[in-house]
Amino acid sequence: MLHHKNGERTNVHSRSSFCLAASILLAAAVLYLGGLWLNRAPAAYVTVSVDGEEIAHFSLNETTEYLIDGYAGGTNRLIIRDGEAWVEEASCPDKLCVHQGRIRRTGEMIICLPNRVVAEVTGQNP
Ligand SMILES: [Zn+2]
Repeated sequence: MLHHKNGERTNVHSRSSFCLAASILLAAAVLYLGGLWLNRAPAAYVTVSVDGEEIAHFSLNETTEYLIDGYAGGTNRLIIRDGEAWVEEASCPDKLCVHQGRIRRTGEMIICLPNRVVAEVTGQNP
């Protein structure tokens, strides 16, 4: 019974309750350290590519404005502010990229098909 996983349900053996307390402490420590690690994780970045080729790279923490030279002379005005990125205006006819709104989480992206522009949030600095 000592090695049974539900040791706390069998009537308390001092040693197994010590083990239980120790594992709770350990779990708390892991969560705590995990939280520290998350806080120290590198900030998110926005990677801009045109026609599959990366052309620019920004920290999501900076405040900047960048005019993307898209495919065939198309342009997209990318804004980064308050940890978010979005396309404020674009030369494309559909303006879908403008309407895609703001991205901030890793993996989120704004795509402009006519200009072949992709702006994606990445979690690491390559
Ligand atoms: Zn567009």
